[in-house]
Amino acid sequence: MLVLMGPPGVGKGTQAAMLEAELGLPQVSTGDLLRSARRDGSEIGSLAGEYMDAGRLVPDELVVALIKRRLERSDAQQGAILDGFPRTVDQAEALQTMLAEQNRQVDKAVLLTVKEEAVVSRILGRLTCGSCSSVFHVKTNRPRIDGICDSCGDKLESRTDDNAEAIRTRLATYRASTEPVVGFYRSQGLLREVDGGQTVDEVFQGLQGALKH
Ligand code: ADP
Ligand code: ZN
Repeated sequence: MLVLMGPPGVGKGTQAAMLEAELGLPQVSTGDLLRSARRDGSEIGSLAGEYMDAGRLVPDELVVALIKRRLERSDAQQGAILDGFPRTVDQAEALQTMLAEQNRQVDKAVLLTVKEEAVVSRILGRLTCGSCSSVFHVKTNRPRIDGICDSCGDKLESRTDDNAEAIRTRLATYRASTEPVVGFYRSQGLLREVDGGQTVDEVFQGLQGALKH
């Protein structure tokens, strides 16, 4: 099991999608799972919605249950690329217990690093496809046709939590609750770091290198 970590907007989702093709393991993003639960109008989705729009963390029990169900599916039996989970030390411990029960473990955690000024402008220009979760940017990664997803042809939109106020909360939440998870994996010798401030392809090369040792 591979864990991808880093602040909001660092490019975890973009890299996870590239790794999915490279490693043949599914990308499992709690953000995507929660957004699709909202679209489906499920109870989990409506419970999570308010937290997400405010940029706060959805309660641990809820995301842990969601991830457990996802990792039980057949496509995740060989492993998965976790993107956006775990985000608290309690989630990291729950993951460890859940995997141990299945004789599995986290093999590596890769931290993508970036300067805080850079993530704000990345997130503010971000366009997301509601259907396939592909991500574009109004300046640095424009879709071929304005407002239309290159991958599936659906409409692109800005996420409801991609506004200045929610971004500030998400960054503060990251520092307070998620940075300790970095220490958790570092102390187990599983942490690798990659500079996320480079181009998408350079970051991907750095990631592939980090996974080799
Ligand atoms: P980003 O990393 O850019 O903030 P995500 O799509 O990963 O975006 O997450 C969006 C929101 O979904 C988070 O702000 C949070 O409310 C919720 N969320 C996603 N993953 C988790 C998690 N592991 N624990 C709690 N909340 C989560
Ligand atoms: Zn799409």
